Amino acid sequence: MIRFVNVNKWFKDLHVLQDINLEVAQGEVVVVCGPSGSGKSTLIRTANQLEQINSGEIWVNGENIVSPKVDINKVRADVGFVFQHFNLYPHLSVLENVTLAPIKVRKTDPQLAREQGVALLQKVGLAHKKDAYPSQLSGGQQQRVAIARGLAMQPKIMLFDEPTSALDPEMIGEVLKVMKDLAESGMTMMCVTHEMGFAREVADRVVFLEQGRVVEQAPPAEFFSAPKSERARQFLQQVL
Ligand code: ADP
Ligand code: MG
Repeated sequence: MIRFVNVNKWFKDLHVLQDINLEVAQGEVVVVCGPSGSGKSTLIRTANQLEQINSGEIWVNGENIVSPKVDINKVRADVGFVFQHFNLYPHLSVLENVTLAPIKVRKTDPQLAREQGVALLQKVGLAHKKDAYPSQLSGGQQQRVAIARGLAMQPKIMLFDEPTSALDPEMIGEVLKVMKDLAESGMTMMCVTHEMGFAREVADRVVFLEQGRVVEQAPPAEFFSAPKSERARQFLQQVL
């Protein structure tokens, strides 16, 4: 579903992504971890062109999205993105946040979009909050709405960039639970997270990034019990 081929990116003279080769298969859950500043956000943002790359190819669902010929809006419709800061529209209700893109971009019939929206809110446990406004919700609830909003476009892939790191500790579990359910439903997912419990339990593969390079990637059991690099060992000592 996603394939990075020799991807390089610079911010001025900072070589932030260095020869990245990485694949995410259909239905696979890949967790990306690594120290702060290692390029995790930049990497995941390139997968739906929130960041441009300088060289290489990024294939998403059979299309090279860095080709000038590609319709990036179509690519983005297939790739949901959940940010650390939920970025809900404050002046729209929960349900309106979820139905906006399907109605405006996918041209879904508004009544149908609302029915589908309520069903998605049910999935994340928030149907009863459909008429509330974001400011009336806790951080964990807002993030669950953001996930429902991402799913409303019926994406083939979901990308997550530290979806729980802005949350109070007691709200992390409810968001991880929604992500776990989504993984179990077969969604292809690429998640930047420091929640190593989630990685251990849900990920098919863990990718460790350092200074813009994929230093190692392995199934969680292998990565956590026997990291190959000294840097990954140090990283795990800090986060576990
Ligand atoms: P991570 O998500 O792993 O913390 P990022 O991908 O955010 O890392 O950043 C990787 C490196 O790129 C950092 O050194 C960061 O300061 C730098 N960086 C990120 N975004 C920009 C930008 N828009 N302009 C210049 N440098 C950036
Ligand atoms: Mg980041």
